[in-house]
Amino acid sequence: MYYPEPISKLIDSFTKLPGIGPKTAVRLAFFVLNMNDDDVMDFAKSLVNAKRELTHCSTCGHITDQDPCAICRDTARDNSIICVVQDPKDVIAMEKMKEYNGKYHVLHGAISPMDGIGPEDINVPDLINRLKDEGVEELILATNPNIEGEATAMYISRLVKPSGVKTSRIAHGLPVGGDLEYADEVTLSKALEGRRDL
Ligand SMILES: [Zn+2]
Repeated sequence: MYYPEPISKLIDSFTKLPGIGPKTAVRLAFFVLNMNDDDVMDFAKSLVNAKRELTHCSTCGHITDQDPCAICRDTARDNSIICVVQDPKDVIAMEKMKEYNGKYHVLHGAISPMDGIGPEDINVPDLINRLKDEGVEELILATNPNIEGEATAMYISRLVKPSGVKTSRIAHGLPVGGDLEYADEVTLSKALEGRRDL
């Protein structure tokens, strides 16, 4: 199949997205060609702006357009408790639940010796620094319920034990091997409620 270059470039771009196969990429590319000019410009601008204007919060690692992020700046939130998650999408899943009023820490990954990812490769050192001066009393380790997530939770738990900060692990009701971000709000809420001490 031969497409004019601008179309084949567009098809290539769509193919790079997760869950988009070659046929869908072609369909989306042709759909874009039929969109009106304003909609296409808006679409292109949102892509560029999302990438350009978003950064990681220097305190918690969450994605934000202002540093520190809105959650870290919020004085009504409980500073004594930090929920540790792997991904910014997990923060959004927790926030949708509307039950948690503490702070967060985003690791951007999990420890995985098989892939050569150690504690220094994820946002662990920053977390340890936060324990020194924020009056933190509890860490809720809400990493994913799979091997890497469990290993990461155990590692952090052991690391902070001497500091006297309590660590707990959410587990109850979360499907083993699943991602936190895909848990529904009721499941997530139960998982938070049923957290156990580590
Ligand atoms: Zn933050």
